[in-house]
Amino acid sequence: MADPKGFLTTPRQTPARRPVDVRISDWREVYTEFGADRLERQAGRCMDCGIPFCHSGCPLGNLIPEWNDLVYSGDWRAAAERLHATNNFPEFTGRLCPAPCESACVLGINSDPVTIKQVEVEIINRAWAEGWVPPRRPAPTAQATGAKVAVIGSGPAGLAAAQQLTRAGHAVTVFERADAPGGLLRYGIPEFKMEKRHLDRRLIQMLAEGTEFRCGLEAGADVSAAELRDRYAAIVLACGATVPRGLPVPGAELAGVHQAMEYLPLANRAVAAAEGEPAISARGRDVVIIGGGDTGADCLGTAIRQGAASVTQLEILPRPPDHRPASQPWPTYPAIFRVSSAHEEGGERVYAASTERFIADEGGRVRGLVLTEVAPSGGGFAPVPGTDRELACNLVLLAMGFTGAERGPLLTDLGVAFDDRGNIARDGSFATSAPGVFVAGDAGRGQSLIVWAIAEGRSAAAAVDDYLCGATSLPAPIGPATAPLR
Ligand SMILES: Cc1cc2nc3c(=O)[nH]c(=O)nc-3n(C[C@H](O)[C@H](O)[C@H](O)COP(=O)(O)OP(=O)(O)OC[C@H]3O[C@@H](n4cnc5c(N)ncnc54)[C@H](O)[C@@H]3O)c2cc1C
Ligand code: SF4
Repeated sequence: MADPKGFLTTPRQTPARRPVDVRISDWREVYTEFGADRLERQAGRCMDCGIPFCHSGCPLGNLIPEWNDLVYSGDWRAAAERLHATNNFPEFTGRLCPAPCESACVLGINSDPVTIKQVEVEIINRAWAEGWVPPRRPAPTAQATGAKVAVIGSGPAGLAAAQQLTRAGHAVTVFERADAPGGLLRYGIPEFKMEKRHLDRRLIQMLAEGTEFRCGLEAGADVSAAELRDRYAAIVLACGATVPRGLPVPGAELAGVHQAMEYLPLANRAVAAAEGEPAISARGRDVVIIGGGDTGADCLGTAIRQGAASVTQLEILPRPPDHRPASQPWPTYPAIFRVSSAHEEGGERVYAASTERFIADEGGRVRGLVLTEVAPSGGGFAPVPGTDRELACNLVLLAMGFTGAERGPLLTDLGVAFDDRGNIARDGSFATSAPGVFVAGDAGRGQSLIVWAIAEGRSAAAAVDDYLCGATSLPAPIGPATAPLR
């Protein structure tokens, strides 16, 4: 146990965000670091529980009390090794994860949980700075198997699967239709949440380990399903759940109404290339974001940095409670009112609101929308009579989630089946209905989180290794049906 009295004597501290007026004038990350001394004391709050529920909160099964103890005692190098034992990319989760481990922390029953996420990110920051994250080539016991594996998609699921399989001795090629690897880590998530240098540094490690990347190639079109089958002994589909949910109301086709994933990639590309205005920009516009989740918050922070005149975020659900409701007790991850860094920067949040229709100007561009208040009714929502009102806007961003994987030529030609939620169907070993074809990440699970995508990639890699070699020593932290704590 780190410090036997730490949880009694040291209050929880979270990292500071840079001042709003400073951070909205650039794209750099919002959070500042603690520094070793303060972090060691925060790690010292861990009680090293006999049954560490933080493990159950994290799909990766991160060895949290072990690295808390190592950080508290100043052995950062060993902490980094324990961190990497369960997580290929702690620099991604340490910045981007909503930290279900902290919601599950035993200390959270009657106090503030351990600052697990901050401990994670500062261990990995230190590890990179000290040169403790070298490329790891296959262990001498894992001779090159000669088996070729194609991974389709380079988001966190594809990257985790590729790194695990490369390290197990297979010849792995990652196909990515975008011009650079990373999936949503690169073109969905804005720079202010995770600077892309963290992704690029990890990709350099993967290249040095022997993973091959072929970008700008759409599997199913530029390279056919038949070619993939001919050339590779196994295929891992890690192509994400990229079909956005639409809003079928009058005027949804107007100019100025865009999906979040049309808007965010353009913004991210402009930042990466240090270009001027992207083709869809919020500069000077009255922006309405439809959807109150993380994607909506990313649109908000981006619009504010681009110089929007105003931003309103609409959410159909009622405002969540400030504290854990009795129906979502510890150790679940509760739906409570959260203030993300973007919400702190500006904009207005409107709850229990549904968009009825969009209004066009003379040029056919959106100039407003009509919304109505809604109330729960029969498992859904019904308009509250007499609450219609008009909201002026000339840029609308739809951030209402995703309905599943794209049913393009790749999946059709491979002949994979789908489940009733629109995801690629799989058995208990991440295998699809097509022989030798596996699926990991959002493509199989549906829209989820980075930590789940990494866990899926690790588990699918174990299944592929077993398929190719008849046995595996790769870890499989979750099964395809493993669900968050409920
Ligand atoms: C805007 C946004 C913000 C988010 N923020 C967070 C966050 O802060 N924290 C968090 O935990 N989660 C967040 N998420 C969710 C998280 O990003 C996803 O759950 C995760 O990226 C899924 O990983 P994946 O590898 O399954 O798929 P993806 O990251 O979607 O990657 C799939 C990749 O496959 C490629 N691809 C698809 N089809 C083909 C093909 N035929 N050939 C070649 N390549 C193909 C795509 O181009 C893409 O690069 C966010 C999601 C969005 C949309
Ligand atoms: S549940 Fe909290 S206090 Fe207990 S071991 Fe995990 S991080 Fe430490």
